[in-house]
Amino acid sequence: MAQVGVYPVPSCRECGLESAGRCTVCRRSLCIDHFGFEDHNPCAARLARHAADTICYVCGVPVRPQQWSTSIFAHYIDSGACAGCGRYICTERHTRLRGEQVELVRDHLRSHRYHRVTRYCSVCAPLRGIGGLLGAGRWAALLSSAGALAFLIATKAL
Ligand SMILES: [Zn+2]
Ligand SMILES: [Zn+2]
Ligand SMILES: [Zn+2]
Ligand SMILES: [Zn+2]
Repeated sequence: MAQVGVYPVPSCRECGLESAGRCTVCRRSLCIDHFGFEDHNPCAARLARHAADTICYVCGVPVRPQQWSTSIFAHYIDSGACAGCGRYICTERHTRLRGEQVELVRDHLRSHRYHRVTRYCSVCAPLRGIGGLLGAGRWAALLSSAGALAFLIATKAL
C-alpha cells in the first residue's frame, strides 16, 4: 500500500544531487545540469549513434533533439520532429508552425511541468487539425469504413 510522505526525493542518476525531472526518453531522474540529452547516458550515446539520421528531411542539416530545464519543476522538450509525419525538420527554414503543449506530471509529492515543443513541416501544417499526414491517413481509413457501414445499412434497409 502506498504511503504518502515516505518517498525520498529522487536523486540524479549522473551525479547524485537532487533531481529535477525525468528524462522523457530513458526515464532516469536527473538534475537540471544533467537533464539535457547530451548530458547523460544512455541518451548522449543514443544521439551520437543516430546523428546521421537526425537531419532535416528537406535540406539535410543536422537537427538536435533537445530537452532542458528552466527550474526544478519546469522542463522543455523539443524532439525536432514534425508532430504530423514524425520526420525531423530544421528550425530555421523548414518548421512551418511551432507551438507548445504543457503536461503536468506528478512525481511523488511534487508536480512538474513538461512543455513539449510541437512543430509542423509545410506538408503537415495545413493538416494539423486532423493530426498531420499520419492522422490524415487514419481519417481516410475511418471515413471509408464509415462509408462501408452506411452502404451496409442502406442495402439492409432496401
Ligand atoms: Zn546531475
Ligand atoms: Zn535520457
Ligand atoms: Zn531544413
Ligand atoms: Zn510533417
